[in-house]
Amino acid sequence: MVDIKSMTLEELTTWLKDQGEPAFRARQVFQWLYRGVTSFEEMTNLSKPLRQKLVETALLAPPQVARRQMSQQDGTVKYLWRLRDGSCVESVLMRYQHGNTVCISCQVGCRMGCAFCASTIAGKVRDLTPAEMLDQVLFTQIDSGAPVSNIVLMGIGEPLDNFDTVLRFLTLVNHPDGLNIGMRHISLSTCGLVEQIDKLAQYELQLTLSVSLHAPDDETRSKIMPVNRSVGVEKLLETCRRYFEKTGRRISYEYAMIDGVNDADWQADLLAKRLRGAPAHVNLIPLNQVEESPLKPSRRVAAFQKRLEGHGVTVTVRRRLGGDIDASCGQLRRRAMREEQ
Ligand code: SAH
Repeated sequence: MVDIKSMTLEELTTWLKDQGEPAFRARQVFQWLYRGVTSFEEMTNLSKPLRQKLVETALLAPPQVARRQMSQQDGTVKYLWRLRDGSCVESVLMRYQHGNTVCISCQVGCRMGCAFCASTIAGKVRDLTPAEMLDQVLFTQIDSGAPVSNIVLMGIGEPLDNFDTVLRFLTLVNHPDGLNIGMRHISLSTCGLVEQIDKLAQYELQLTLSVSLHAPDDETRSKIMPVNRSVGVEKLLETCRRYFEKTGRRISYEYAMIDGVNDADWQADLLAKRLRGAPAHVNLIPLNQVEESPLKPSRRVAAFQKRLEGHGVTVTVRRRLGGDIDASCGQLRRRAMREEQ
């Protein structure tokens, strides 16, 4: 079976042409796919034989809603999707003044091992396909009735550890006949895989790159983020500077505030010092407590913010959405796994 929904319009055109179909068919099929049809029978402007051929040769496997949680506080909706092979991933719909944003996953689980993150507890099961990433956006939109204008790759998994798929996904959502979501409306978050950041820079995409920094010193960062042990903060920040020079896009640094681990004044001072030299934005994230982890949320978020601002750093504190519904990374999947055991 061909993974038709992971194809670009150009690939689909070639594929259909090889089977004797006229070129305009490809656009028709493509548009149906992005309307979120769940079977080829729904593609009513295609001939019956073509529909039949698609049923026999092409894969259309929409995810099932395994769980849906709605925040009573702010309209955030969290989805646990069950994929074709039974694996589950999460997406979150967040409603902001500037439009609806969907946060999606790129892998089933994660192999990065960050100490504070629920997604990585049982390791990585597999990469998602472009179609599986796309379907999270499409079906969140369809199920919630909320048109999505922004996408963040901040769900389960490490986007740059599934590089080619993520790149293809970006091409698909960007396509005018697809979702037509502009790169400036997309954020990609990484734990800091330096070679892949350099590789991404070559494409000069206008998306926002978020780097999960979480500590300015190697001792702390290596303790909570194993990825740091081989590279180190200095080399990561050098890579980020190169990324900025190549793309012209300011990098956003995420910093989850953990009690007694990364929230000291000296760490704010060091962070400010190390970020000097290139435009940067720091996003402080109040730690979401993960059941399996002993790490606690910091009580020093405001003080840390003030200290950074004192050094001239641009800082925001992430607003907590969906606090009543396990709405952070991998927590709903973990809960479902525990309950199913
Ligand atoms: N793998 C990517 C994207 C996934 S996580 C990355 O590492 O950036 C999206 C963001 O949420 C990352 O900054 C991640 O470090 C952060 N995060 C993970 N668990 C968290 C928790 N329990 N509390 C607060 N932030 C968390």
